[in-house]
Amino acid sequence: MAVLCLICENAITPTTPSTKCGTCKKHAHIKCLKLSESEIAEIINDKSSWICPKCSPSSNIISIEKIEEIIIKQLSVVQQDIKQTIENHFKAINDRLTTVEDNVRLIQEEWAAFKTSNTMPNNNSSDLSVIVAEIEERKRRSSNVLLFNLPESSSTSIAQMVADDLQQVMSILSPLGFFSHPQKVIRIGPPKSNTVRPLRIVCENENMAKDILRSNKNNPNVINSFVLI
Ligand SMILES: [Zn+2]
Ligand SMILES: [Zn+2]
Repeated sequence: MAVLCLICENAITPTTPSTKCGTCKKHAHIKCLKLSESEIAEIINDKSSWICPKCSPSSNIISIEKIEEIIIKQLSVVQQDIKQTIENHFKAINDRLTTVEDNVRLIQEEWAAFKTSNTMPNNNSSDLSVIVAEIEERKRRSSNVLLFNLPESSSTSIAQMVADDLQQVMSILSPLGFFSHPQKVIRIGPPKSNTVRPLRIVCENENMAKDILRSNKNNPNVINSFVLI
C-alpha cells in the first residue's frame, strides 16, 4: 500500500521530496507544508525535526478542528447578536401594541358611554344633546360676521351673485388688512325686491371674526354705512 501525504492525501513517490512527523511518523510532501526555504532546509538536514499539525497544535497550519472551533465560536456570537436584535424588535413592537390596545380600550369605553348616553331614554341625555347642539351652534355663529346694507348683485346667475358679494366683501375687508377670502358669503333669507338682505360672512375661525369686528371699530371710516355685528 502506497504511503499517503497526511496533508494532500496523495501518494508519496520517491521522486517528490517528502518528510515525516517526528512524533507520529506520518509522511507529508515538503511542498504541502507551506514553509519558508530556511525551514525546508532545516527539515532536510534533520528528518525528525518536523512535527505534523496534529501533533503540534501551535503549528502555522490550522487544523480542521481548530477552524471548526473558531466557526462555532463566531456562530455563537452572531446567534447572540441576532437573538438580541430580535428581542429588541419584539420589545418595541410589544410596547407599541400595548399603546394601541390602551387607545382602543379607551375608545371602546368612550363609545360605550356615548351609546349609553344617546340611547338611554332619560331626560339627562336629551338635556345633554341640547347643550351640545347649543354649544356647537354658538361656536358656529362665533365665526360669523353679519353685514347690513350691502347692495345686492343685479345678476340673475347664482354663481355671479355669490362672486359679486365676495368681491364687495373683499373690497371692505382688504383695507382692514384681511386679504384671505372668508369660507363663505351667504345672503340671509329669500330674495325680495326693494330689500337688501343681510350678508353673512363665515370666517375660518372665531378669532378672524373677532379681528374683523375690532378692526372695524378702529377704522370707522372704512365701512361707512355698513354695519358689522
Ligand atoms: Zn502532499
Ligand atoms: Zn504527527
